Amino acid sequence: MFRIAYVNGRYLRHDHALVHVEDRGFQFADGVYEVCAVVGGALVDAGPHLDRLDRSLREVRMPWPMSRSAMLSVMREVVRRNRVRDGSIYLQITRGAARREFAFPQDAVQSVVMTARQTSHNKSLALAEVGVKVISLPDIRWARRDIKSVALLPNVLSKQQAKQAGAYEAWLVDPEGYVTEGSSSNAWIVDRDGNIVTRSVSNAILSGITRWAVLEVARRAGVAVVERKFSVPEAQAAREAFLTSSTSFVLPIVQIDEEMVGNGHPGPMAGQLRQLFAQHVAKETGAKLARTGL
Ligand code: PMP
Repeated sequence: MFRIAYVNGRYLRHDHALVHVEDRGFQFADGVYEVCAVVGGALVDAGPHLDRLDRSLREVRMPWPMSRSAMLSVMREVVRRNRVRDGSIYLQITRGAARREFAFPQDAVQSVVMTARQTSHNKSLALAEVGVKVISLPDIRWARRDIKSVALLPNVLSKQQAKQAGAYEAWLVDPEGYVTEGSSSNAWIVDRDGNIVTRSVSNAILSGITRWAVLEVARRAGVAVVERKFSVPEAQAAREAFLTSSTSFVLPIVQIDEEMVGNGHPGPMAGQLRQLFAQHVAKETGAKLARTGL
């Protein structure tokens, strides 16, 4: 079976799926995207992902290239044609192919591309059992990190530096010394009082859908939640640290730079939140809890 990609209205073999050399996504990173987890063949939190896409499109002054319901149908079709049970779908919208000029083109047709891939959630489970290491790096990104733009070069460079340091993720630090978020995830700690802490939503971070879902399930379970900034030293001295994203779910962090967090093992709060998030995913998708691999 071939992998299938959706490209501008057509379902193509993945290895034949191409966009034009003058696509503005390619030349200017003039586009926005979403990544949505798939569990048991169903999309996780598709509604909130499309709400965020709506906001990203508005902020970069692009219209929807098709109706929201059509977009959802294509997403489901891409998942179906690739027979993805557990994995993720990638969706990208750019301002289209046009003669290279910085200002918006008059007549370009937006490009819409989607791919889906199968990934075992067992890998995530294995990582969650031991926890991961993160390194801290200066946040060198632009001032509108709330927009899910395909301009990800600083994120790419940070992730590569983390990988070379044997770490799973890089935590990005603003000029005042506070953690904004990870290169592709949101950052959390459990403070000395047992509150779960994550930076509040602003232009400084991406409003993660997993972040939102975890806040929801935590509040409902009576876990104390505080949305505020924290520094790297505070995180290193915290009871626990963890990260969230659509592809990593809730992942405990056991080391930040050279410092161990807590006793160097995943903490109970990260475990509880991972479990609560798994229940949310199972409810959302209709998949059996075991299927969530969480
Ligand atoms: N921050 C950044 C910079 C990201 O790239 C991502 C993942 N796309 C996240 C946070 C987590 O967002 P979500 O939970 O919606 O995947």
